Amino acid sequence: MTHEEFRNEVKKVLGIPGKFILDVYSMVEGNGWMIHCPEGHYLHAPYAHYKPLVLDEESKPVEYGEWGRFAFLDGISTSHPSFIITGDEVKLHEHCPFCDRTGPVLEPVVKRVKGEDIRGCPEEVRRMFSKDLSK
Ligand SMILES: [Zn+2]
Repeated sequence: MTHEEFRNEVKKVLGIPGKFILDVYSMVEGNGWMIHCPEGHYLHAPYAHYKPLVLDEESKPVEYGEWGRFAFLDGISTSHPSFIITGDEVKLHEHCPFCDRTGPVLEPVVKRVKGEDIRGCPEEVRRMFSKDLSK
């Protein structure tokens, strides 16, 4: 289901307008939440302490607008090294095409890099429901 389909379904069932339904991209290893702007469909990076990067197959940064592996520098992480290379494939842009907020943005389509395990909240829910709960 796309974000737009989800917004439309929530509006139909619960009556909540789409501009109040914001998706978030984050992970437990970081302190940064990338949140949809209500005007568009891009995920904004909290650039004051969180530096998003997109890397190629040799772990070198690519230009804005190119697909690659998502990585980030987290300036407020204290419990582990603050440079994380993820298994997610993303496209990062220097500015949002829909609003005037500053900082880089991710396109909302986030995929897993080929060969990486599936993980995240949807996978955890799938595992929960696939367990035999009678044991
Ligand atoms: Zn925006």
